[in-house]
Amino acid sequence: MKTPIVIAGPCSVESEAQLLATASALAQNPQVSLLRGGIWKPRTRPDAFEGRGEEGLQWLLQAKRTTGLPTATEVATPAHVELALKYEVDALWIGARTVVNPFSVQQLADALKGTDITVFIKNPVSPDLNLWRGAFERFQKAGLTHLVGIHRGFSYYKESPYRNFPMWEIAIELKRILDVPVITDISHICGSRELLHDTAQKSVDLAFDGLMVECHHDPDHALTDANQQITPKALNDLLESLTPRAKQTSTADPVLAALRSEIDDIDDELLQLLARRMNVASQIGEYKKEKGLTVVQMDRWKQILADHLATGETLGLSAELINKVFEAIHQASIRRQL
Ligand code: PEP
Ligand code: MN
Repeated sequence: MKTPIVIAGPCSVESEAQLLATASALAQNPQVSLLRGGIWKPRTRPDAFEGRGEEGLQWLLQAKRTTGLPTATEVATPAHVELALKYEVDALWIGARTVVNPFSVQQLADALKGTDITVFIKNPVSPDLNLWRGAFERFQKAGLTHLVGIHRGFSYYKESPYRNFPMWEIAIELKRILDVPVITDISHICGSRELLHDTAQKSVDLAFDGLMVECHHDPDHALTDANQQITPKALNDLLESLTPRAKQTSTADPVLAALRSEIDDIDDELLQLLARRMNVASQIGEYKKEKGLTVVQMDRWKQILADHLATGETLGLSAELINKVFEAIHQASIRRQL
């Protein structure tokens, strides 16, 4: 599939008229690669609108035939897979609530064996890279080769402006480990329209491979996720407003080459220093053992961290960075001493 991939369409397929109005407007934009429409909706609480089921698939097929846009829907069970294939859905996505469950993912992988349909795999609700990666591996083992990640943010226990906190580093890491394209579902990350533009720009700046955006011809009256859906016209404006970035910087760029070489030298020094520090930690470990002292001496550790935070501040380094780096170093050092 050519990138950037843009998947657009309603959160839920609600009616024939709603889907056709939305799809025909989206089809005017050549950047739209796939029409999405939720047929079975995983709802947090029962009695909310749970999707139109098979009837909705008929409308999705009709929208595809009328507009020429290929279609995509969420599947959570083998029965969904069977129906989606029957109605010629072109790509499937696995929702965040399904990816958390390896039993469900395996059943879907088994149901899709022998097809080579494109499967988009959303990140699980919880920030668990291995769980996300494991879902890819299950589909790969079933012989599926067109797999794409969808980063839709993660449940987060602290207050945040996002509906689902992005934690971009997890999606970047997935791309690095599996070498798969990953697109950004800005709608479910943001939860509201105001944040969509900046989040989409960030996705472009971080070299992700496209966007999923919920679009509805009348978003305020959408049956699900009304706050985050936008009109097809607003999608055009959003895509127009993004500043592109070259993904591959040319190695011939001398300024960048010099700066990168400086970074490489600094990283090398950091690695040498870390190795030295670990050697000293080993010696301390031996000594504490000889003297019958505990490995963790909480007062000393608290004091070190406080000192480093203060020094870091004078150097313009954030407390978050100092905490993360020194907690990781301290833990490695404890393991070495043990
Ligand atoms: C959706 O895309 O409609 C959806 C339910 O998303 P998620 O699985 O990311 O919550
Ligand atoms: Mn939705």
